Amino acid sequence: MFRLTGETLHVHFLGTAGALPTPTRNLPCIMIRRGSDTLLFDCGEGAQQQMMRARTGFTVNAIFITHWHADHFLGVFGLVQTLSFMGRTEPLALYGPSGVHEFAAIVNQLSRTTVRFPIESHEIRGGSVVRFAGYGVYAFATQHGIQSLGFVLAEDGRPGRFNRERAVSLGVNPGPLFGRLQRGEVVRIRKNGEEVEVRPEDVMGPPRPGRRICYTGDTRPVGDRIPEMAAGADLLIHDATFDDRDHDRAVEVHHSTAGEAGAAAAALGVKALALVHISPRYTGTASHVEDAKRQFSGEVIAPPDLTMIEIPFRD
Ligand SMILES: [Zn+2]
Ligand SMILES: [Zn+2]
Repeated sequence: MFRLTGETLHVHFLGTAGALPTPTRNLPCIMIRRGSDTLLFDCGEGAQQQMMRARTGFTVNAIFITHWHADHFLGVFGLVQTLSFMGRTEPLALYGPSGVHEFAAIVNQLSRTTVRFPIESHEIRGGSVVRFAGYGVYAFATQHGIQSLGFVLAEDGRPGRFNRERAVSLGVNPGPLFGRLQRGEVVRIRKNGEEVEVRPEDVMGPPRPGRRICYTGDTRPVGDRIPEMAAGADLLIHDATFDDRDHDRAVEVHHSTAGEAGAAAAALGVKALALVHISPRYTGTASHVEDAKRQFSGEVIAPPDLTMIEIPFRD
């Protein structure tokens, strides 16, 4: 009954195409929901229709743009109009590399008669951290021929598991004292006529690591640029614009192949890999998944648009 519950963590793949949309794949947009927070990572054209199809609603708190290629940001214009039409008054935070203030100004200018809420632009770079309650978004520089960022969403660690039986055996009665111990307070109780101290570490297991999701945006394979915290992440969402047969093209246009994404996943020791930004030249993703699996033994998916995955708690 005093078990600490955490926030749910959901990833919605709203857009998984690269450069151009296809009849079945929309332009880049990854929605991550943690508890009641909703963050968008990139917001390609048509994102709001994808949000309708995925029935996610429009309560977006912040939008992170990886770079200023139009397939990653054109959806902001329409989404802002819709939010305004729906009566939004809370500010919308927009994060992106150099150019984000100009972008926000253009959105405002072009929409000046209808946008009724402030768009707050924040310029970030590799090493920037944006804090939210219980987690942070950590930006890192990627390699895409223009200034570009990837992001790691990393939860703060959670307290260890509360050992109820141990607390009772130490003489703590179930009730408010349990909560105080779980919050890290030392409590004093009377046991056999004597006052004794029970410390949180007497009844709590070791702290549990938070969950982590890494989204690379468009990039050559991420290597040493990626922050250490991406190591062992629950999910790596990596550029896999091409399959391995088109490796030369990937190098030429500063993208990655699925095999390179797989190698990055293996090097980072992540649990699962999602291949995104699939070029419209491919009619399927079987070769992408195969190429990645040759490099990485964890779970590999090339999620179709509107796929939702829940990231379970780590215990
Ligand atoms: Zn792109
Ligand atoms: Zn790009």
